[in-house]
Amino acid sequence: SSPAAAKSEGEVEIKSTEDEDVKDDKAAQSLLNKLIRSNLVNNTNTVEVLQKDPNSPLYSVKSFEELRLKPQLLQGVYGMGFNRPSKIQETALPMMLAEPPQNLIAQSQSGTGKTAAFVLAMLSHVDPNNRYPQCLCVSPTYELALQTGKVIEQMGKHYPEVKVVYAIRGNKLQRGMKLQEQIVIGTPGTMLDWCSKFKFIDPKKIMVFVLDEADVMIATQGHQDQSIRIQRMLPKNCQMLLFSATFEETVWNFAQRIVPDPNVIKLKRDEETLDTIKQYYVLCNCKEEKFHALCNIYGAITIAQAMIFCHTRKTAGWLAGELSREGHQVALLSGEMQVEQRAAVIDRFREGKEKVLVTTNVCARGIDVEQVSVVINFDLPVDKDGNPDNETYLHRIGRTGRFGKRGLAINMVDSKMSMNILQRIQEHFNKKIEKLDTDDLDEIE
Ligand code: ADP
Repeated sequence: SSPAAAKSEGEVEIKSTEDEDVKDDKAAQSLLNKLIRSNLVNNTNTVEVLQKDPNSPLYSVKSFEELRLKPQLLQGVYGMGFNRPSKIQETALPMMLAEPPQNLIAQSQSGTGKTAAFVLAMLSHVDPNNRYPQCLCVSPTYELALQTGKVIEQMGKHYPEVKVVYAIRGNKLQRGMKLQEQIVIGTPGTMLDWCSKFKFIDPKKIMVFVLDEADVMIATQGHQDQSIRIQRMLPKNCQMLLFSATFEETVWNFAQRIVPDPNVIKLKRDEETLDTIKQYYVLCNCKEEKFHALCNIYGAITIAQAMIFCHTRKTAGWLAGELSREGHQVALLSGEMQVEQRAAVIDRFREGKEKVLVTTNVCARGIDVEQVSVVINFDLPVDKDGNPDNETYLHRIGRTGRFGKRGLAINMVDSKMSMNILQRIQEHFNKKIEKLDTDDLDEIE
């Protein structure tokens, strides 16, 4: 039988469908990122630019002044605490604000300033005196649309004539009415209905079309076709902008159908390394022993803040309970929680209100652990076939380039199988993982 079928207490737990966090869809992940991120991510790479017309000069700006924004918008930008354009904004903004407007496909990880950039482009292009929709922005979900709406509100704070409306299921309008708001944000299905079936929007008057989170978008059945159908109703001279955090072949194919003659901007994410991390493993026989080893570690060294990863919700819940009984201030992040609840838990942890964050693998994907000095793999990361999940391992404990502080990673091994996983992870990264004797902890720290 497969190793996955041989699961028993104390062995590496394999992702099973019933235990899979249902809320772990891409949209939830993306929303979580937005909810917890309050500033730009560090990125040391340079932006790659592919211009539609390679002979035209490439402008990039180092300040918002250079963009000759409307004063109300410049005020909005500074009001948000932005001092200068982010890396992607340096190149994307001049392209988006150029006359005539240029089409753009931009890819960079979440937190690099894409939303702020296209919001600024939309706000710059609308004419508030015209009381009809001029910009459409499609997002994969209602919640994500709402987040974009909030950015428009903040940035447009000093430009109150510009109004926003949400094209989302549940927002029922009277038949025959015409929208007066200049910006419409929504999900593809409702947006399409509003443009064609109900004619609340005259698509021929749209000047800017934004498709946000293209990678998340195409993960939902139907969104791709609906988006393309909206795009086809728009005038030829409408500016088309598409954004994505990742860029697989499927996203690229979709992007090219949405955006004709695009400029393309890409920003690679910083590579994570294990170079500044001290890695250890602890040998145990079962989860209770792992818990005791953990207590020993806590007794021996001062841990400012730790993140502890478990494979299932059940283990995470159990461990959080045990740690609280020991007197630790524990936060638990689990898949049954709403995204907003998860964000609140992460915020509290970031503020230092809790010192330990226990989480399942799936839940914590995409969360930065910059300030966490100790990461404990209570269960080693494995994929659905029970093979080592090297990528997750790296992402959990790795740090990016020159911003990386020194860190400590402790792996709990509780079976031959998990020892094998550990060895394979060690070989994969070609970095030694030292054995740690939890009865003699002088060596760490
Ligand atoms: P993305 O859409 O790529 O995920 P956002 O536009 O949401 O990125 O920006 C990420 C975070 O950084 C947000 O909190 C946003 O307010 C902030 N931000 C965006 N642009 C700037 C800037 N030029 N300077 C400072 N902070 C910025």
